[in-house]
Amino acid sequence: MTDATAPITQDVITIPRKLPEGSRTNLVGLTREQLRDALIGAGTPEKQAKMRVGQIWQWIYHFGLRDFAAMTNLAKDYRALLAEHFTIEVPEVVSRQISADGTRKYLVRIAGGHEVETVYIPEEGRGTLCISSQVGCTLTCSFCHTGTQKLVRNLTAGEIVGQVMLARDDLGEWPVPGEPKDETRLVSNVVLMGMGEPLYNFENVRDAMKVVMDNEGLTLSRRRITLSTSGVVPEIARTAEEIGCLLAVSFHATTDEVRDKLVPINKRWNIKTLLDALREYPRLSNSERITFEYVMLKGVNDSDADAKRLVKLIAGIPAKINLIPFNEWPGAPYERSDWERIEAFADIVYKAGYASPIRTPRGEDIMAACGQLKSATERARKSRAEIAAEAGL
Ligand code: SAH
Ligand code: SF4
Repeated sequence: MTDATAPITQDVITIPRKLPEGSRTNLVGLTREQLRDALIGAGTPEKQAKMRVGQIWQWIYHFGLRDFAAMTNLAKDYRALLAEHFTIEVPEVVSRQISADGTRKYLVRIAGGHEVETVYIPEEGRGTLCISSQVGCTLTCSFCHTGTQKLVRNLTAGEIVGQVMLARDDLGEWPVPGEPKDETRLVSNVVLMGMGEPLYNFENVRDAMKVVMDNEGLTLSRRRITLSTSGVVPEIARTAEEIGCLLAVSFHATTDEVRDKLVPINKRWNIKTLLDALREYPRLSNSERITFEYVMLKGVNDSDADAKRLVKLIAGIPAKINLIPFNEWPGAPYERSDWERIEAFADIVYKAGYASPIRTPRGEDIMAACGQLKSATERARKSRAEIAAEAGL
């Protein structure tokens, strides 16, 4: 029998020991609440948890640090404890292509060896990062290359936030501790327009955007984030309420008959149902305009009658129409509309009072078409398209 009153003679020494790879939790992508729970779970006293979250958050998302040992405002023992339980990891960049116009395309490897693409599009005084939310897509839009690939899996919140972080790594955009903060933002905007349907991965996308929009760290305001959906109607109000970012919708057709073919999710939620949900969006999210994406397919959806129907349909919705010249891919059953047709369509929409920029075939389009290489003709068209886009704004 042991004597409960006997003095304890042996000191308990905890030797920090790293758990094997994979069993440590990656802190990237955890919301503040989740981070707090994780820290408490690892032995952080509850009373200190809020302060520790603030400190660690700043190291990870403001300074872009990946090494607990360098978190100099934390006690050495505590840094060791963190390293024992956690990692700070972003997906690996397998390759990087830089186009003549400065667009950077990253092939990014995520756990399990799957790959997604992330595209950085530099613009005057700002820059847009186009990120992926899924590997592949469950939907089968007939003009989309991703739609021909089966869904492999949803990205985790960490893999979504990680795309923003790896771009900042590559662009050298993290501030250096002790040095004055540079206010120019290279990654000033994020668009969820890469691979996948973000509203079919709602929770992870929402949590990732919470991290990105937090007012410390990456600090992108909700107005600098645009989520593009093919029209997952039940999640649209939730997007307004739980994320509050700007919304883009892959509209692409003005009759249910054509939209059923182009964006098959239309068979589930048709144009009317979609528009009803969209009418509510700006009010719920207190956001500005909704972007209607409209891919220009020769002889399919690009007539004057389509343009006129389009402006009628969206009447009353604060909107801009983003015309996307179709990116062809091997075996694609469509052709890009002629330039004159695109301009004529844009003109009708513009005269009806809507901005109608034509999306220039930059990195974003390489991304949208999933692996499409940019041709010389597309590049030559860029300046004309830019002029048209500016005129439409
Ligand atoms: N799944 C989401 C977001 C990713 S796609 C959605 O569908 O909204 C981003 C945009 O590129 C969408 O508007 C999509 O319809 C468009 N797109 C897809 N394939 C394209 C292609 N081959 N050419 C031009 N735009 C394309
Ligand atoms: Fe999926 Fe969007 Fe492509 Fe449709 S357009 S198949 S929703 S990625």
